[in-house]
Amino acid sequence: MRDERDALPGMPDNYELGRRQMVLRQIHGRGIRQPEVLLAMEAVPRHFFVPTEFLQRAYQDEPLPIGQGQTISQPFMVAAMAEALSLAGDERVLEIGAGSGYQAAVLSLLARDVTAIERDPMLASAARNRLAALGFANVRIEEGDGSLGWLSGAPYDAILVSAGAPAVPPPLIDQLAENGSMVIPVGDADQQKLTRIVKRQGRVFQESLYACRFVPLRGSFGWREDSQESTHG
Ligand code: SAH
Repeated sequence: MRDERDALPGMPDNYELGRRQMVLRQIHGRGIRQPEVLLAMEAVPRHFFVPTEFLQRAYQDEPLPIGQGQTISQPFMVAAMAEALSLAGDERVLEIGAGSGYQAAVLSLLARDVTAIERDPMLASAARNRLAALGFANVRIEEGDGSLGWLSGAPYDAILVSAGAPAVPPPLIDQLAENGSMVIPVGDADQQKLTRIVKRQGRVFQESLYACRFVPLRGSFGWREDSQESTHG
């Protein structure tokens, strides 16, 4: 996979090494063990998902700005959320908050297909073009308010929310398939708990996994645009 980024002055083609070290230190080193997740993190070129001014930092242990006030998630979080879904490979997955498309690309290697919703039109179209150019054929980027889910593809075997929510949006629970799993950061605007939800025989079970910090989920069941108050209670 070559484009002008591989030929940038001062950037020899050392992304592969950087990526391998990222997986070794940040992902495996912090306890992520599912082989498919480690392979997917090693396969997806994160440097294509960050703005050119952050190329040198593409494989570092941090979220990075992607424009429109949003960020691409920290690599560890991307892997931890993917692992928490325990994907077997045949699932239909919904992501809320596509952003750069990076998390969706990782998920696409672990599942049958991914529908990723992004409310910002510029980010949505950039992510769509990027994923197409990189050949991720089983990801669809849709523009809209993902706090309402995406009804036309429901139910989903797995749902991953990439933005911090004040509470679990009820439409997402409705659109989760029987025996499905969801991971979602829930909490206040600047600190959340990564929460895993599973649906068994119509009942919903919830557990907390990691402390985390995500940009706010907006929309009908997210935080209000002008404040840190949630739209619903
Ligand atoms: N998964 C992304 C991380 C993006 S940050 C990546 O890998 O790059 C979270 C994203 O959620 C932002 O792009 C933001 O615009 C988007 N977002 C926030 N509220 C949303 C909503 N209600 N519906 C869809 N996207 C939303």
